[in-house]
Amino acid sequence: MKNVRARADNSLLAALPALTRRRLTADRAPVDLVVSEILSRPGERIRHVYFPIDGFISLITPAKGRGQLEIGLVGSEGMLGIPLLLGVNISPLRAMVQGAGHAWRVDASTLQQELASNAGFRAALSRYLYVFLSQLMQTATCTRFHRIEARLARWLLMTRDRARSNSFHLTHEFLALMLGVRRVGVTRAASALQRRKLIRYHRGDISVVDVRGLERAACACYVIDKKIYARFLGSRGEQRGATNSASALLAATIANSIEC
Ligand SMILES: [Zn+2]
Repeated sequence: MKNVRARADNSLLAALPALTRRRLTADRAPVDLVVSEILSRPGERIRHVYFPIDGFISLITPAKGRGQLEIGLVGSEGMLGIPLLLGVNISPLRAMVQGAGHAWRVDASTLQQELASNAGFRAALSRYLYVFLSQLMQTATCTRFHRIEARLARWLLMTRDRARSNSFHLTHEFLALMLGVRRVGVTRAASALQRRKLIRYHRGDISVVDVRGLERAACACYVIDKKIYARFLGSRGEQRGATNSASALLAATIANSIEC
């Protein structure tokens, strides 16, 4: 199957006027995202913001005595460092690179200056903040209510979208972290998806072989996330109608949380 790797850039930065973008990146080259690299730790000061281009970053919350749980993914659709949008410069989460690639790295002070002086930039990142919070809410209900197999299908689709590829590498340990289950639960769910010929999985190398089938196997959370993203970070026309439909989308999020 062909890869879906497309025009490589970060969507948030790509939407900015050239001058704003130049002020943020200072014409520096993207940095490498190396698998397992820790970009932030809970309680640490945020020094840089990352706008991934073609890698993806996992957001992990430690659960004392219970290991840890992945609660979000950041790829080319978003940014790492959103506490800065709220005027807070301390990271609440651990951020670890899960998919190798590149990212634009912006100094925290540069981002804060731009936020203070540029209302358009502030509005664009506020919309992203809303989408990010929606993803967190969706993940909370997903973890509580939805079946492991459907949740695995959702995370694999999310990873595929951020990796911009039908093939990627995720260790068994990381899949368990994604789903908040033991490794045996991951094995069962991955085997079930493989038997249905939706994915191929061998020693962490994953290939999505039937995207539509995997979408049908996923819980409703995947489509809800995508709709919210399209509504708030899609075309300008969609954004104009965004505020009015916010409560309707949140209602849909809650209504769909108990489907699976
Ligand atoms: Zn779900």
